[in-house]
Amino acid sequence: MASKPNPQTSTQLRRSTRLTSKRIPTTTPPSQPVPKNKTRDIEDCFSQDEADSVRASLLRWYDVNQRELPWRRKHGCGCAGDAKERRAYEVWVSEVMLQQTRVATVVAYYNRWMQRWPTVHCLANASQEEVNEMWSGLGYYRRARFLLEGAKSIAKEGRFPRNATELRGIPGIGNYTAGAIASIAFNEAVPVVDGNVVRVISRLKAISSNPKDSSTVKHIWDLAGQLVDKSRPGDLNQALMELGATICMPTNPNCTNCPVSDQCRALSLSRLETSTIKVTDFPPKVIKSKQRLEFAAVCVVLVQNDSCENQKHVTENFYLLVKRPENGLLAGLWEFPSVLVAERTDVESRRKEMDKYLKNLKLDFGEEFNLVSREEVGEYLHIFSHIRLRMHVELMLLTTKGGLNQLENQGQDCQVAWKFVHDSTMESTGLTSGIRKVYNMTREFRSKQMSTNIQEPKNKLKRMRS
Ligand code: SF4
Repeated sequence: MASKPNPQTSTQLRRSTRLTSKRIPTTTPPSQPVPKNKTRDIEDCFSQDEADSVRASLLRWYDVNQRELPWRRKHGCGCAGDAKERRAYEVWVSEVMLQQTRVATVVAYYNRWMQRWPTVHCLANASQEEVNEMWSGLGYYRRARFLLEGAKSIAKEGRFPRNATELRGIPGIGNYTAGAIASIAFNEAVPVVDGNVVRVISRLKAISSNPKDSSTVKHIWDLAGQLVDKSRPGDLNQALMELGATICMPTNPNCTNCPVSDQCRALSLSRLETSTIKVTDFPPKVIKSKQRLEFAAVCVVLVQNDSCENQKHVTENFYLLVKRPENGLLAGLWEFPSVLVAERTDVESRRKEMDKYLKNLKLDFGEEFNLVSREEVGEYLHIFSHIRLRMHVELMLLTTKGGLNQLENQGQDCQVAWKFVHDSTMESTGLTSGIRKVYNMTREFRSKQMSTNIQEPKNKLKRMRS
């Protein structure tokens, strides 16, 4: 019998609900051997009967209950080469997106993506900028970058790799994505293990070891491999993931309606007369390492240009964006000018740091622009997987001295690339979710300011009249 896992806190349980629909791939290579000092019990594997019965129940359930999703659409004859490649591309894009966010959010992104780049060859001709724009809001832009690199490499080779081993040679495709594409599109009998599968299998076998340990991950890959159906590997893999996403939820599993409840060891342990075990004790929760706290000064530089068109006064707004370095966090993405600062800095020192940074852009603010105002907008805490970034946001409002020509330079001759973006195109510009939040904060701040400015003269007028 499996030993009882560590007790868990309610906070940890709440955190684990994020696993419900996001694909969280596991990373240990399936080929990694079990540590020599670790022997496996016969109970740690599925017997032939057990595997057959779990497989049959899962497929029966999946045939009736699978959700209709755009990437599950069949393309005419399933054996045609092009149809398989198309399916492989769709599975690939959807799986990468599902690693970022929930199914409901992914559907809209997926449909837009497929409309723009319906085949891997269309994607291969896209630019990184276009891909970033399309990915905007999904987060973790490295994945989008890898999708593009992968598409270019497939287009260069002239064919889509057709098995998991070859697929793992494409940039950005790991064990999880390779297994998903190979089994769903090319019918190869290989397993797929994401966070949902880890949870389902940990409960089916009441596995109480740390799900992040490489030996546990290897064990779960082996068990998933035992379950893979030779004739319908893609459906079986999707059924396991679907069960984890819709029935075997992290905190509130629906065991009453579960198609594999008869084979679930965690459930039978929880039903023992004096048992204090709950199915949600499996897999045991892993305490995350502490995120480091960082601080940044962010300056939203807004340039207004006034002109006259058809005897009408027109004001246009432009935002200054700078490009992040090509390596590291959020590589190659556009953002508002930002500098890291110490924990307790006052407004003055933050502005000094920012001024130094802006000077490096070789944009002559004094020469080319008039400073109208510089105000503190507020703070925003952005959480990355390993960093909590507290951003102090300010708004610098400028007007042009010599018209729009000054905004066209695009910062070619300095180390950091920069550009001015018209406010009408800010919505479609590929910004990270943190920068998008800063942009929205600033817009709110400006509209409050403008309504106060309108209110004040009205109030003054009222006072004068009374
Ligand atoms: S019986 Fe409950 S815990 Fe076991 S697999 Fe089904 S939903 Fe999950």
